[in-house]
Formats: sequence, structure tokens, C-alpha cells
Amino acid sequence: MFQRRLFLAITGIVFALGIHAQQGKKIHFGSILIDTHNDIPSTAIDEGVSFDQSLKNKTHSDLQRMLAGGVDAQFFSIWCDGNKKNPNAWAWREIDTVKAWASRNPQKMVMATSVKEIRKASRRGQLASLLGVEGGHMIEDDMGKLIELHKGGVRYMTLTWNNSTSWATSALDETSPNPSEGGALTAQRKKGLTEFGQEVVKMMNQLGMLVDLSHVGEQTFWDVMKIVTKPVLVSHSCVYTLCPHRRNLKDEQIKAIAKNGGVIHLNFYSGFVDPAFEARSDAFTAKHKTEMDSLLKVNPEPYFMEVYLFNKYPEEVKALRPPMSMLLDHLDYIVKIAGVDHVGLGSDFDGVNSLPEGLNGVEDFPKITDELIKRGYSKKEIQKILGGNLLRVMAANEKK
Ligand SMILES: [Zn+2]
Repeated sequence: MFQRRLFLAITGIVFALGIHAQQGKKIHFGSILIDTHNDIPSTAIDEGVSFDQSLKNKTHSDLQRMLAGGVDAQFFSIWCDGNKKNPNAWAWREIDTVKAWASRNPQKMVMATSVKEIRKASRRGQLASLLGVEGGHMIEDDMGKLIELHKGGVRYMTLTWNNSTSWATSALDETSPNPSEGGALTAQRKKGLTEFGQEVVKMMNQLGMLVDLSHVGEQTFWDVMKIVTKPVLVSHSCVYTLCPHRRNLKDEQIKAIAKNGGVIHLNFYSGFVDPAFEARSDAFTAKHKTEMDSLLKVNPEPYFMEVYLFNKYPEEVKALRPPMSMLLDHLDYIVKIAGVDHVGLGSDFDGVNSLPEGLNGVEDFPKITDELIKRGYSKKEIQKILGGNLLRVMAANEKK
């Protein structure tokens, strides 16, 4: 009798889990999923690979896995670091790269610049591909270049990357005594937006290019919030209260974004999710310092050294990762203090070297939807988080 009851109980649980998984799939693949930050253009160029090849076990992203993960629209990050002499040319190189991927795969991938085009691509099962410039230095202090980037299809720009521009200060420079590479934060330099910076923000609002506040310093943030006329985007940041990192948002900033009608898309990077990650990561670095230094002598790009070491010590690297639940805690927190209308996903896949357990690449997005269901979010709420909120912000920015 006992055994039979146990058998029935187990069958019941297995059945319930099956229903749950089916429900998760249905919601996930029936929703428009928009990830607002992926660095595969830079990674692909660095590694000499292409997004339309199978890159499993090499990168976090490729076209086939992105479609399999239920991604409907991807903002590809257009990036170069702050010490390039001609950053605008670097930006165009990446834009051309993404456009070449799309033109080679017309059945699966299409360039998109609007809510309408995202919806159309989604109905056809194509990946809507959007462009976001990561770092205002790529306009080279020239409004004409901003306008050209918009014409070329760019629909968001972070005002700074880690480096400040001449017109906006970054989170790194506002908090660090050592100015970043290419940044110009001197003792005389005031934090925040200059007059030209205000012009840039106004022009972006006028053009319908989303003002992205990931990477900017707090002073820049508040200077922008005073003058914006459209809802803002934070494309890849997390919650400062849960993980006090300068790249994350403080409660007052989160509430201000809600008031502005904007949206915060959460970064999956372990170091922005888990406050204990940095100490674990530092211990790993200390342990392997000699080897790291000798690798850097061969190739000074830290990226290649990391890839090598991460492949050599997989178990140690695995132990650095936080659980996925910690990422979802950031989401719950924003929902709690700002509401479900102001949060989304901005993975930073292929831009970071550590991700929470279970999130190994773009194919793992359905796991997040499963977690949201487990946490009691309704279908309607999940659809807002996955992409509905961003569509609302884009639509508001498209209005003249
Ligand atoms: Zn970034």
C-alpha cells in the first residue's frame, strides 16, 4: 500500500513537472523576447569567427542557438574601447559585420529598427537584429556622426562606456581616482553632462534613438534625467543594493526610471549579480598569476589569456559562478520597488567571462522563463519582462 501511494505521489510530481515545463515552453516561445545587449560582434571579430557558423563551446552566441533559445529580437552591441584613434570607423566596421550576417541569412535574420519591424520578424520566425552603440566616444564629438549612426539603423547609444567622453562622465571615472583609458577626467573636469552632452541627449530624443544609461556615472545619470523627454533604457545593469558595484543602479535611480516610464534590462554577469564573486575571482587570479603574466607576454589582450585559463581549469572556474536564482533576485527587487513594467533582460552574452550556473549561452533563455513561472509571475507579467516593456519604451521613443 505504502509503495503504491509512493508510486502515485511520484507519478503525480513527474506529471506536474511535465505540465510545468510545457507551460514554460508555451509562454516562452509564444512571447516576444528582446535581449538588449550582446557583444558577439566584437567577440566574433576578435576570434575570427562568424555569428552564422555553429560556435557551440566557443562563444555564448550564434544564430542557430539564438533562434533555438526563443530570442525574437537582439540588440547587437557596437563597441570599441576608449583608446582607439578613430572610434567611429570601428563602430561602422561592427555595423557592417552585423549587416553582412543578416544579408547572408535572409530566411533567419533581418535587420530591424522599429517596433513594427520587430513584430513582423517575430511573426516570420526571423531574428530581428538591432544595433546599439556602446559608448558615446564613437560619435567623436560630432553631432553629424550621431545622425549618421541613426540613419545606419542604430537605435540606442550608451552615453559612455567605461571611458568618459568629453561631454559625459562614466561610472568608472566618477568613482575611480585613476581616469580610464581615453577618458579625460581631470581634477578640473566636472562630473556629469556638459552643454554639448545636453545637446546630444536632446538630439537622441528628437531622432528616436534610445538614451541608454548603462555605464554612465551617477552625476551624468541625474543630469540626463532632468532633461530627457522620452523614456530611457538601461540596457545591461543590475541592482546596487543587492550587489554594490558602480555599474549597478541605486534604489533612487531605479525609482526615477520607473517615473520616467523607462526600463532596466538586467546584466547576467556574475560580478554584477553576486557581491561575493569578486573575492572568489581575485583568489583565482592570485593562484594563477604567474601563468597569466606569461600568457599576457605572448598576447597582451586579456581576452585570450582568460579563454586559455578558463579552458584549462574548468572545475575551478565553475566554482566561481553564482546560482541563477541570484539573478532572478535582482529582477524581483526591481519589481518590488518599481513595478513589473520597468524590468527586462540585457544578458551581456559574449561580453563577460562568467555567468550564473545554468546560463551557458543564448540557448538557455527558456530557463529564465521557467524560473519566472516558479516565482509566481503570470503569463502577462512574463511577456512584459521578456520584451513587452522594451517595445513600450521603443514605441514612446518613435513618437515625434
Ligand atoms: Zn557594457
